[in-house]
Amino acid sequence: MNRETHTLLKNVFGYDNFRPLQEEIINRTIDGKDSFVLMPTGGGKSICFQIPALVFDGITLVVSPLISLMKDQVQALKANGIKADFFNSSISPQEENEVITKAINGELQLLYLSPEKLISVSNTWLKQLNIKLVAIDEAHCVSMWGHDFRPEYTQLKVFRNSLPNVPFMALTATADKSARKDIEEQLGLKNSKLFISSFDRKNLSIDVRGQVQKKQKLQEIINFINRRKNESGIIYCLSRKNTEEVANYLKENGHSVAFYHAGMNHEERENTQSDFINDDTKIIVATIAFGMGIDKSNVRYVIHYNLPKNLEGYYQEIGRAGRDGLPSETILYYNMRDFVLYSQFADNGANSNMQKEKLHRMLQFTEAKSCRRKILLSYFGEHLTENCGNCDVCENPPKDFEGTILCQKALSGIARMKEKDGITMLINMLRGSNNADIHSKQYFNLKTYGIGKDVSFFDWRDYIIQMANQGLIEIMYSENSALKISPIGWQVLKGEKTIRLTTPLKAKDKKKTQKAIKSTISSNTNTDLFTALKQLRYTISKEEKMPAYIIFNDKTLKLMASELPTTENEFLAISGVGMNKMEKYGDEFMNVIRKFKNSAKPKKITTTQKTFDFYKEGLNPAEIAEKRDLSITTIFSHLSQLYSEGKNIDLEQYVTKETIDKVRVAFNEFDRKLELKPIYEKLNEEVTYSEIRISITLILKNE
Ligand code: ADP
Ligand code: ZN
Repeated sequence: MNRETHTLLKNVFGYDNFRPLQEEIINRTIDGKDSFVLMPTGGGKSICFQIPALVFDGITLVVSPLISLMKDQVQALKANGIKADFFNSSISPQEENEVITKAINGELQLLYLSPEKLISVSNTWLKQLNIKLVAIDEAHCVSMWGHDFRPEYTQLKVFRNSLPNVPFMALTATADKSARKDIEEQLGLKNSKLFISSFDRKNLSIDVRGQVQKKQKLQEIINFINRRKNESGIIYCLSRKNTEEVANYLKENGHSVAFYHAGMNHEERENTQSDFINDDTKIIVATIAFGMGIDKSNVRYVIHYNLPKNLEGYYQEIGRAGRDGLPSETILYYNMRDFVLYSQFADNGANSNMQKEKLHRMLQFTEAKSCRRKILLSYFGEHLTENCGNCDVCENPPKDFEGTILCQKALSGIARMKEKDGITMLINMLRGSNNADIHSKQYFNLKTYGIGKDVSFFDWRDYIIQMANQGLIEIMYSENSALKISPIGWQVLKGEKTIRLTTPLKAKDKKKTQKAIKSTISSNTNTDLFTALKQLRYTISKEEKMPAYIIFNDKTLKLMASELPTTENEFLAISGVGMNKMEKYGDEFMNVIRKFKNSAKPKKITTTQKTFDFYKEGLNPAEIAEKRDLSITTIFSHLSQLYSEGKNIDLEQYVTKETIDKVRVAFNEFDRKLELKPIYEKLNEEVTYSEIRISITLILKNE
């Protein structure tokens, strides 16, 4: 263990332990070697170069294409007392000069640059710097095979070669095997070691819902966010028009929401983004343009309104939820129309085949009937041995059944339609629909017309897609999505092969929701205090003009609200509090905590106490129940409790001696277990729960 790096981790960043791999990466870098760091969003990549930057006596350059993120990251570093700055197209010439002067005078530990700026100054003042480390963030941008290629990145190799003895670190959250090799080559890394941390984000639940009609989809989303009124979330849409439509719909339903897309001007986008970051807007409906530049840690859900183009993008987007590690939810909606649309885009774009391949993998994922996390992670080269238990398939495992006859019906229909039509026509024909298309093609004359009436449209759709996934049919996107029968399909049709299908899944939001809500509310966090701490953070963020989460993230505030630190030592022990923040903000936050502690002394009136007050006023149980809007059983249970606590309650008046005797016999028979139901049943449901409860209280008290 390297003591210096540990001390930096605690004193500067406020964390007690390194996450897996961080320490190894840091030590290797300090030794002067190259590294390739592949970690999911929120995995903790930054610390891997920030701590070496603090150890080195010189400057660390950080190359990133995300200009809007640079400012936040530099602010976050400064908040921790680190000397950092950035150099990109967003700053004025005068500011440029100031940064250059500081860098040359050795007053900076970290300097963030955009790749184009780095290239343009690499032969001028950059030559005068004592560069000790270069970190290339978002390194996938260098690869043409990645999904976010940036030409400026390809010039970084020349820069690398000009600094042969300086360690380079490439960092990314997304790169498959072939992209990885490409990145190493393009950046000229030397004997670099690859560090891949687990991509499993256990705190994210995964839910995929297919073929949901627009109206229902919007209703489901409304229901979902209604139950999460004070939580932040992102909803991704395919088109700009969609984002506005969905946002307006949510607004009409009373939600704090804004839309975001590349068609808005710079200022509008900045404002929307910062309102979201500062919790002034709860929900953002956006195209995928949103999210690259933010590091908000308390996004509690991500919803995809349309199918994402590939699994890399999907995983990165859902990864924006739950960066603080608290349970968070993701839902993906898709339908075949999205898929067809993308296939057409891909036909016209660059790298057409690769894009289509990725799209197919995406579709396979959505159609899958086994643990989604397993599939997702295996795509990124990681193999889970057990099902995750936190995805829709695990929660609601599909049942499979002998589906050969069903398949034969569909295949026979396709054959009789001469393999010229798509899914919708096939289903309408099978279900004996009367619509104009069926008429104009005279499909009502086919032998298969109406043979699938007993299966719903949506279930048919599901089965046909399963057939495609099992290779029985092919969807010809180049021919208006006409269905063709494959050689395996012909075997099935001829009865030479049997097929199993799975029952279509039905979304079960309720069950999941309750579970998720329960798990988000940590039992010993004082919610009032948490709210007060958030309010203080909000005020400071306005004063200091910086995003709230940079001051302290939600997880840190939650810890404060449960641990209640009021001394400097206690405060420093909270994860996320380093020396600098302790000095800067410690007093203000501890004052709020102290106030809370003083006022939280028990003066709360319990519900039982309220019942007692009414009882003392002379009200009978029925009247109390009515006044308090509670059930009479509850009131009797309050009275029983008060009686056992020794309060002056005349319980005997509510039960006869016979009843008590009957209950006593049953109570003893069940070994005196404090369960009412068996006794109730034993006594032929003739004695009420309230009477049983009172009797037991009296029996126990009077022994
Ligand atoms: P990435 O760049 O990989 O998306 P970050 O570097 O932004 O992720 O880290 C994500 C969050 O995890 C940040 O809030 C960061 O401060 C926190 N973090 C990183 N390392 C640790 C650690 N060792 N212990 C606790 N929190 C950490
Ligand atoms: Zn699972």
